[in-house]
Amino acid sequence: MKVSFPFRDPGISRLIVDKIHEVASELNHVKIMDFCGTHEWTITQYGIRSLMPKNVELVAGPGCPVCITPGYYVDVAIRLAIEGIRVFTFGDVYRLPGSSRDIPKNLEEAKSEGADVRIVYSVSDAIKLSKDGRESVFLAVGFETTAPATLGPICRGEVPRNMSFIVVHRLTPPITRYILENYPQSPIRGIIAPGHVSAIIGASEWEFVAKDYRISVVVSGFEPIDVLLSILEILRQIRDGRAELVNEYSRIVKWEGNLKAKEVMRSTCDVVDAGWRGIGFVPQSGLLLKRRYSDYDALTKYGIRELSEEAWEEDLPPGCKCAEVTLGMAKPTDCPLFKNVCTPERPYGPCMVSSEGTCLIWAKYGGDELLRGLREEIRYKG
Ligand code: SF4
Repeated sequence: MKVSFPFRDPGISRLIVDKIHEVASELNHVKIMDFCGTHEWTITQYGIRSLMPKNVELVAGPGCPVCITPGYYVDVAIRLAIEGIRVFTFGDVYRLPGSSRDIPKNLEEAKSEGADVRIVYSVSDAIKLSKDGRESVFLAVGFETTAPATLGPICRGEVPRNMSFIVVHRLTPPITRYILENYPQSPIRGIIAPGHVSAIIGASEWEFVAKDYRISVVVSGFEPIDVLLSILEILRQIRDGRAELVNEYSRIVKWEGNLKAKEVMRSTCDVVDAGWRGIGFVPQSGLLLKRRYSDYDALTKYGIRELSEEAWEEDLPPGCKCAEVTLGMAKPTDCPLFKNVCTPERPYGPCMVSSEGTCLIWAKYGGDELLRGLREEIRYKG
């Protein structure tokens, strides 16, 4: 059967896939992690896994900020909402389950019980609405891509005093280091580094992967051809015994990143050890508002204690394998709840909520089913 490439440039894509097969034929098993949820979307939506040689395994990583937000902070937002404080958040956090069994399971349910929960498109919308003087909290979730937009108004003095933030911004290089340090039993031999995040932090922030761990790392764009080129580059490096950082997304990502955005983060927050859902505390992986901005820290303002080690016991719903999925140790289809108890319509675990969640992507766009189906049909002549 003829392989049809669902890309804008099928001829070039076919050439790259040919090269991938050629280089991979000289290698043993290679596991490559695509860090970012949007890369996982590209890989799954376009069936890129089905085009890979059998010895090239693509696994998703922790690049979905909604998936890794500890349930504790969702619980805090729900409790504040129930107590009459208006809670703002982004749409993909609305149905994110918290951890506590004693309160509504997510902000959507809290709203249905009468709490004032508002979905906003940006922090500016929340600031505008908060100018009415009502006590308001913004549940701020995201990586380095969204952190400057949340934090900028704080350091510019644009946030009214009646508004504060639950800051759950997390940093991507530290979790990558954590995975490489702690899970050597399933070695990752290449990393497709996140493009959007790198536009802020700069390609240079990924140099440690090659230098400290001798692993190939490519900062990649999000078109299918970007991902294919990044996979080819990683395989070539492995074949040649090299481990280097390559910026495939140089049309957007600079070596030093966005200096203004980085300065906003540096001047507003301290970098601290921070919790990742189902995983635990990861050293120096989160942002905490500096003391001079503590009036804007909802936990300080309302006397709520920070997340502690005890909170991990029930961080994920029983049976949910999200931690393994976000660490690249399991596929969504390894979870017995996938697409029966846990569906896009009724998400049970956090990886089934956001459009960047691996379980949601696999449930909507095929994942393993698509891969199996295409394998049966396609006789790829590599
Ligand atoms: Fe968790 Fe649902 Fe994914 Fe299973 S399918 S790992 S319950 S999000």
